[in-house]
Amino acid sequence: MDEKVQEQLRQLRARYAAEVPARIAALVEHWGQVSGVTWAPEAADALLRIVHGLAGSGATFGYVKLSEAARNLELALRPACEAGVALSAAAKERLAALVSLVVAAAEVGEAVGKVAMADEIDADVGEGRLVFLVEDDELLAQEVTLQLEHYGYQVQAYTALEGVEEALAEAAPVAVIMDIMFPAGGLAGAETIAALQRQRNKPLPVVFISARSDFEARLGAVRAGGMAYFPKPVEVGALVDCLDGLVERRIPEPHRVLIVEDAPVLAGYYALALRQVGMHVMTLTDPVGILEAMEDFRPELVLMDIYLPGCDGVELAKIIRQHEEYLGVSIVYLSTEASIEKQLAAMQLGADDFLTKPIAADHLVAAARARVRRARALQSRMIRDGLTNLLNHSAVSEQLDSEVLRARREHQPFVFSMIDIDHFKSVNDTHGHGVGDRVIKTLARLLQQRLRASDVVGRYGGEEFAVLLPGVETDKALEILDAIRADFAGMQHASDTGTFSVSFSFGVAGYPHYNTAPGLAEAADQALYRAKRAGRNRGESA
Ligand code: GH3
Ligand code: MG
Ligand code: MG
Ligand code: MG
Repeated sequence: MDEKVQEQLRQLRARYAAEVPARIAALVEHWGQVSGVTWAPEAADALLRIVHGLAGSGATFGYVKLSEAARNLELALRPACEAGVALSAAAKERLAALVSLVVAAAEVGEAVGKVAMADEIDADVGEGRLVFLVEDDELLAQEVTLQLEHYGYQVQAYTALEGVEEALAEAAPVAVIMDIMFPAGGLAGAETIAALQRQRNKPLPVVFISARSDFEARLGAVRAGGMAYFPKPVEVGALVDCLDGLVERRIPEPHRVLIVEDAPVLAGYYALALRQVGMHVMTLTDPVGILEAMEDFRPELVLMDIYLPGCDGVELAKIIRQHEEYLGVSIVYLSTEASIEKQLAAMQLGADDFLTKPIAADHLVAAARARVRRARALQSRMIRDGLTNLLNHSAVSEQLDSEVLRARREHQPFVFSMIDIDHFKSVNDTHGHGVGDRVIKTLARLLQQRLRASDVVGRYGGEEFAVLLPGVETDKALEILDAIRADFAGMQHASDTGTFSVSFSFGVAGYPHYNTAPGLAEAADQALYRAKRAGRNRGESA
């Protein structure tokens, strides 16, 4: 754990320790009211809330005994509070003993225990989209480099085996693309890699390319730990697919987690634990902000305290579930709730899981990871297009709707664009449907890689795409998309009969000039139509 995190943790613990005396004072005061002659329902609720809070948070900050004592008190107190009748003398005595145990545990103040954090994010992550290409045929190396750069990869090319080892000590590429035959020998590429692999703890991700396709060469590649083998002429589309797979495994999109927890210290602790492993976290201490948070932050997982001021977690989950677009979001309750029936009842009302406080950081991380993964798998089947894995038409429309709302609220511009491949029918007619599909995938990937992570890219229909660029003015969007247009038009696609190129046309419409979702879609479509009429392979703005 780095020092900054340690320091943050120390501060959180200090803040918690500073809060304890006030909490205990409140506990004693409310206990005085509850144990009086008449039953005071409001005091009972407040008391229960304080006790519940101590049980759930104490151990997290090192007050293990305090948590335990508070939990015992909560278990004994809850039935009495829920029954809503004055306490019998015997019950009062028993509860008073438990209260004094809580007070004593707080005074011990042993808040020095080490707070365990989950492991930090794997440090050995490759550098973004860097790949090494080792190929002695200089022309081929240049061509593959150019093509990979089109797809957003940064290529360091080597025409000899010497120097590769040194370069690997300096940088961590997502993959090494290695030729097999070199002047040094017919298997020299594979042998060099095999030797490198033997010196490493973690295997080097390697992809082989070769003019050889015989058993000996393939065996050599396998033994050197090659993850894939591409016979020459290298089909760059397939090579890029393979590299994309490696990149995705290495730098997954950060998980997005919303924490709803009214105790700021606890919210801060959970946030820290999750951020520590690279997740994006937003914390909300007032449930009133829930819908805005859902809309703006788009969490994949909501971790929700079940006891909140003003409305409880179960009600909040219902509010979230009223929105169809959030059906794919996982909701997990965080609570000291010990009764299993209560947990089950809560889960029937829209949540997916229950975590019992106090929660160790590594347990929280593991649970969050598992939930986000499931949410992603589910979401992906509902909203992704099978061929390109881009958002489908209805998902794009939804994004457009919510972007209009957000832009209105934040007074920010954004641009909606429609893109359509030119004369695509003739690509299919000339080269076949399979080649056509590959062109569609190529453009999908190019758009994804050239636009920002915050931009939305979708497949709107057959050979039509839609792009949403938040925070961008129309002129800037025209410029960005036009650069992509020029790159796409310059790409060579392979077919049985050789190579060919394809272009696209696009239209853009900007908010606030057009200020409704249907208005923007219609305007972008009209602009696209004008680009087609004006000769294609160009963009127009509405
Ligand atoms: P324009 O420049 O005017 O856009 O001409 P176009 O030929 O691209 O336009 P048109 O709308 O006439 O044809 C679109 C073609 O796209 C027809 C359809 O067969 C093809 N297409 C649609 N979806 C797919 C797909 O998923 N895969 C393939 N290979 N072709 C598709
Ligand atoms: Mg060679
Ligand atoms: Mg079309
Ligand atoms: Mg078309």
